[in-house]
Amino acid sequence: NMLKLKDPSLFREASFISGAWVKSVTGKTFTVLDPATENEIGKAPDMDKEDTQKAIKAASEAFKSWSGQTAKYRHDVLKNWYSLIIEHQQDLASILTQENGKPVSEALGEIKYGANFIEWFAEEATRTYGDVIPSPIKNQRFVVQKQPVGVVGIITPWNFPNAMITRKVGAALAAGCTVVVKPASETPFSALAMAELANRAGLPKGVYNVVTSHEKYKEVGLEMTTNPIIKKISFTGSTAVGKMLMEQSSSTLKKVTLELGGNAPFIVFDDADIDAAVEGAITSKFRSSGQTCVCANRIFVQSSVHAEFASHLTQKVSNFRVGNGFDSNTTHGPLISRKAIEKCTRHVDDAVSKGAEILIGGKHVGGNFYEPTVLSNLHPEMLIAQEETFGPIAGIFKFDTEEHVIEMANSTESGLAGYFYSRDIGRCWRVAEALEVGMVGINTGIISSCEAPFGGIKQSGIGREGSKYGIDEYLNIKYINFGGI
Ligand code: ADP
Repeated sequence: NMLKLKDPSLFREASFISGAWVKSVTGKTFTVLDPATENEIGKAPDMDKEDTQKAIKAASEAFKSWSGQTAKYRHDVLKNWYSLIIEHQQDLASILTQENGKPVSEALGEIKYGANFIEWFAEEATRTYGDVIPSPIKNQRFVVQKQPVGVVGIITPWNFPNAMITRKVGAALAAGCTVVVKPASETPFSALAMAELANRAGLPKGVYNVVTSHEKYKEVGLEMTTNPIIKKISFTGSTAVGKMLMEQSSSTLKKVTLELGGNAPFIVFDDADIDAAVEGAITSKFRSSGQTCVCANRIFVQSSVHAEFASHLTQKVSNFRVGNGFDSNTTHGPLISRKAIEKCTRHVDDAVSKGAEILIGGKHVGGNFYEPTVLSNLHPEMLIAQEETFGPIAGIFKFDTEEHVIEMANSTESGLAGYFYSRDIGRCWRVAEALEVGMVGINTGIISSCEAPFGGIKQSGIGREGSKYGIDEYLNIKYINFGGI
């Protein structure tokens, strides 16, 4: 391994079950590649059903004591974990850049963003209040208490190898649950580095388990979604896989939290501050080279400001420097894989064949690198309008009226994020309320934070993460009728 870490023991090539670093039962491993160089970074255990059962058993054992601890105790341990993450942020960012490709500055941003969830939920742990309800019967009192749901199965994607874990695990652990995490096979080492720090922070064995898998990930997923010990599945990833996991989970009626794909509209009205809108489009569209589920996927610009917006956006994109995330000049890293490149190529070719104009970019430039691209003259029949591109391609649509753009924005099965720029107060309220999404950004291209509820409607998911609402996903409500008074 080429990584120069200050603390090399954060880089682990073993899974983490019941507080121990373990190989797979079969002894098999899989190779993880650096998306920038396509060189090997290291190997992780290729686990299957049997390994998963061991992890579930460990989590189940640990649940007995962890759920019985005071909230203050869990708060203290999570705060220790948070402090260690902050202390080791440089190393965690290096591991993240190596396996995901995003520039180190962005990786550092993710580590801090991810750590915030641990801190936030440490504090929420002590605020899982119940209720006393005035009862209609004289000698009875109605009490509502919140209790952890049990062992949670967590399946996470490669685009935020750290934060998608902490957003779920922070809430679950704070609530008193224990977890089995299966990270994406592209990015297992961030999850494992977090296990090393969890261990040092004093998380008891079996509370945080990591099962890495590549060949048999479907078998691992099936075990997690059907094993009766697991009471809840929390998943972030594609809509198709989310639906399948929900179907599998129905056999034991597990609770589910699903954060699935988006197809975010980004609308620029003629009364907007155009420079601000261009800035917002840059951050919303091109962060992580377009590989986030809240990335702007369809940019709608009102006719009278279309030319100005398109030329300013193109100008900004021409300043991007695509390259290895470890190079300090790099503003945008590689995509995760050749499959991601193929999707970009397919979307651009399809759009161009149907009349789109390439304002800048539009080419695969070797390896996993695709040029940041701006297209104009887009139409709803193009693939790019219908599917999440998950790449650095900004496609601009022209529109005339507020009514029409809302209709276009909502004509998708997805409903995760939506953005728009306007200085008209009435319009801001109207459009925010009309967009069929779980999250709206008005005059901003960034919406994610640990304080705010993250999640979608329609086919973008079920449940909310982060915020005061996020911990409820891991708690059952228990009603106690205390009679005989
Ligand atoms: P992406 O296209 O971003 O990789 P996926 O939904 O395929 O999105 O992957 C997100 C996560 O879901 C990864 O950890 C992946 O390994 C996992 N995953 C994909 N398919 C399955 C499945 N059939 N069962 C369990 N986990 C799966």
